[in-house]
Amino acid sequence: MKKVVFFDRDDTLIVDRLYLNDPDDITYLPHALEGLKRLRDYDYDFVIVTNQSGIARGLVDPRNLREIHRRIRNEYNRIGVDILDFLYAPYLPVTDHFLRKPHPGMLLEAAHNYNIDLKKSWMVGDRMTDVEAGHRAGTRSILLGDKEPPENSPYDPPEFHAKNLFEVCDFIIQNTPY
Ligand SMILES: [Mg+2]
Repeated sequence: MKKVVFFDRDDTLIVDRLYLNDPDDITYLPHALEGLKRLRDYDYDFVIVTNQSGIARGLVDPRNLREIHRRIRNEYNRIGVDILDFLYAPYLPVTDHFLRKPHPGMLLEAAHNYNIDLKKSWMVGDRMTDVEAGHRAGTRSILLGDKEPPENSPYDPPEFHAKNLFEVCDFIIQNTPY
């Protein structure tokens, strides 16, 4: 079975442009590229799971979204990192759709499709809904950055609260059995 690090996209791997719709506006956050390369060396695979209500709002064109993900995939391929899949939930928050985080639908779908061992996997994101989606799916979760203090959240706290992706990778590697 595979072990995977599930990553949120916006403000986790790339700068959140609020409904990013232009493939030329992709900006990687510090350590986003080499961080995954480090984790790859510990036999992790990667899946991106992103809420994209901008599609339902008419602010993001699905063709642009696919192009954005194609470019991100290519950028990682260039440094020898393969992304297993990009999953997105194109639904409005009010739908409370099972594929939308904090629900675990996207993670469970990936686990089914790619034979992923969720107990050995991680969810990383900048929001407590990311942390919660991981917990509901059965992964451990890491919160990134200071946007949402865990103590103000109705959800269970993350296993680790990281300042940046470098700390995220360190923590995962330290907690990966040989
Ligand atoms: Mg985010």
